[in-house]
Amino acid sequence: MTQFIDLRAQYAAIQPQVEAAVLAVLRSGQYILGPQVEALEARLADYVGTRHCVSCASGTDALVIALMAQGIGPGDAVFTTPFTFFASPESIVLVGATPVFVDIDPRTFNLDPAGLEEAIAGLAANPATAHLRPRAIMPVDLFGLAADYAAIQPLAERYGLAVIEDAAQSFGATSRNRRAGALAEIGCTSFFPAKPLGCYGDGGALFTDSDELAARFRSIRVHGQGEDRYEHVRIGVTARLDAIQAAVLMAKLDVFDGEVEARQWAARGYDQAIAAAGLDLVTPHIPDGNVSAWAQYSLLAPDRAARDGMRERLSAAGIPTMVYYPKPMHLQPALAYLGHAAGDFPVSEEMSARIFSLPMHPYLDQPTIERIVAAMAE
Ligand SMILES: *Cc1c(COP(=O)(O)O)cnc(C)c1O
Repeated sequence: MTQFIDLRAQYAAIQPQVEAAVLAVLRSGQYILGPQVEALEARLADYVGTRHCVSCASGTDALVIALMAQGIGPGDAVFTTPFTFFASPESIVLVGATPVFVDIDPRTFNLDPAGLEEAIAGLAANPATAHLRPRAIMPVDLFGLAADYAAIQPLAERYGLAVIEDAAQSFGATSRNRRAGALAEIGCTSFFPAKPLGCYGDGGALFTDSDELAARFRSIRVHGQGEDRYEHVRIGVTARLDAIQAAVLMAKLDVFDGEVEARQWAARGYDQAIAAAGLDLVTPHIPDGNVSAWAQYSLLAPDRAARDGMRERLSAAGIPTMVYYPKPMHLQPALAYLGHAAGDFPVSEEMSARIFSLPMHPYLDQPTIERIVAAMAE
């Protein structure tokens, strides 16, 4: 049976290193934060190319901490994409702010900078949002491809907005020779097992060049701690990384570059096999200057019926597929209070009807790729 993301094959490849590293933590008596976590943070900052990395308990916590550190809360608007995992808008709502959605570019599935200025400028004109202060933009690097920061950054500067990169799916990607996580003032990533760099539980991290922001992240992740352990200078959360997860991540980082390379190879293999089979599908578009982390390999079928038929054929052949995402954020029941309706973000809605993702992980081989594409062509 083909795996959608083959974590067992990865474990088999790194088992001795991971087991030794985890055993060392068990014997150390230090289980939350501590030297393992500090060593991991130094290595991650070095990898991403930022002055600071502050680890935390999940990607969602990273987003919440980023927003809290900027003092974003009730009455504030944060611009983001409706075509993402729920955690992006959820983090905005968790701090009491309001997500304001901007539709996506259908070629990259990322927030469309062309619609961003309209949304920022249009905030005051709409009675429903006129009371909100524009504060930040949260672009998402969907499926492992960086959002268009070269177009987003000038708008952020013009309107005085913070930029928080949701790099939960893009750890390992680059854009114009900068690593994902370092593409905005604050980068947030996730180490959920299925992400490009995953641990064996929940984990996440924040990246920044700002000494001041990094100090705030460290304080917020431990109950707003001050200089002294029982002095609290702000309201925080409890969102620390476990030493066991840090040990797992260190072992996985040793093979990570090879895994990112293997994902490039697999994506090219799919591209070529799909082109050779002459299938009526749109393969992923990676704009010049970008390397995707290939968290997902996502295709567009001509319409919903063609997409669903293709998924059924693959399923019958024992090949799992997924739909990311079947319901855009503006149509989620939990966000109904925002007052959106079907038709508000037509590109996101169309993509959610046509998109599906094939198995993608670093341990795919050529026969498996050919078998998957052959099953699609039947
Ligand atoms: C996975 C994900 C998150 C949340 O990460 P967790 O570690 O699961 O909390 C946030 N944003 C996006 C786009 C994600 O894919």
